[in-house]
Amino acid sequence: MKKIQMVDLKGQYNDIKDVVNPSIQEVLENTAFINGPKVHEFQKNLEQYLGVKHVIPCANGTDALQIAMMGLGLKPGDEVITADFTFAATVEVIALLQLTPVLVDVNEDDFNINIEAIKKAITPKTKAIVPVHLFGQCANMEAIMNIAKEHDLFVIEDNAQAIGASYTYNDGSKAKAGTIGHVASTSFFPSKNLGCYGDGGAIFTNDDDLAHTIRGIVNHGMYKRYHHDVVGVNSRLDSIQAAVLDAKLPHLDTYSKARQNAAKKYNKAFEGCGNVITPKVLNECLDKDDTCDCHVFHQYTLRIKGIDRDALVKHLNANNIPCGVYYPIPLHNQKAYKDARYNEADFSVTNQLVKEVISLPMHTELDNEQIEYITSTIIKFING
Ligand SMILES: *Cc1c(COP(=O)(O)O)cnc(C)c1O
Repeated sequence: MKKIQMVDLKGQYNDIKDVVNPSIQEVLENTAFINGPKVHEFQKNLEQYLGVKHVIPCANGTDALQIAMMGLGLKPGDEVITADFTFAATVEVIALLQLTPVLVDVNEDDFNINIEAIKKAITPKTKAIVPVHLFGQCANMEAIMNIAKEHDLFVIEDNAQAIGASYTYNDGSKAKAGTIGHVASTSFFPSKNLGCYGDGGAIFTNDDDLAHTIRGIVNHGMYKRYHHDVVGVNSRLDSIQAAVLDAKLPHLDTYSKARQNAAKKYNKAFEGCGNVITPKVLNECLDKDDTCDCHVFHQYTLRIKGIDRDALVKHLNANNIPCGVYYPIPLHNQKAYKDARYNEADFSVTNQLVKEVISLPMHTELDNEQIEYITSTIIKFING
């Protein structure tokens, strides 16, 4: 059996070497390392793939979030609502911009931001909501956009984990994750679903004026060379990373399918295993529909009931099965983000999830033998 890895970047690279290497070589030959033609080509191709008017590449997913918030003109003291159960980058940039993060609880079944909790958290100071499409599946965007409209709020989608996924509206129509809110951010960190070979990120929007503002912000606030109209940052996607991404983009849907197939096999193996709750896919479309793109499984995350999750983690590691606990501490309990206004009772779901979740190896190269070994090791442990 091949060594099991959380993410198998090498296997994937070997498979697309013939496309990626010449794409990188082209940049080495033309030496347009920054803002070269590859960056523009990738930007255009991603705009087309997503069906969004503007993609603005930048240096990483954390910058993308920060720049999106700067572009919206949010002011110190403005309140920004986001999920308690996510990676810290989301809340970090809110705090860095001296906005006030307002963390709220999530849903038990899909791990995404809870709609009632958002409603409860709105005050006259609320200016934006940041839903995170956690683990590869969209938050309830229709409800979030309705709340935003009613209260005149911006919606910034943190799409670092769900590129390629679609959201299905109540009427059955679909839109790609990251094209629904006023603006969205994504990350091309190597282990993300569309990863480069270093750091990278992008901002998406359908708003022409906002896109113009953001293009200046990523480049030192310059709209005309050496004229600095606003305070900006230096955040660029370099051409070599764009070359990698442009070579990988045509494979993204195939990669999502490979992840979904692995998820289906995991689901099947855990059928009837009472201590394990497999990830909820909205509309149950993963099993019903071959064209399902509701969930792109950035992570395959189980909830473990009635047995010690941490003991299971140890057991898997001892059997050479890597796994992850995303995330072990709720953000509202992190030293940097504690706030006297928070009430433990308002975070009952996140507080529970941090004790139950375990993410299994998930990538495009998982094979049947590996999945069989992983699932049987877990089931044997549970059955004692
Ligand atoms: C990875 C990630 C980010 C940050 O992306 P970087 O490119 O690492 O800066 C932000 N939000 C979420 C939810 C992420 O998973």
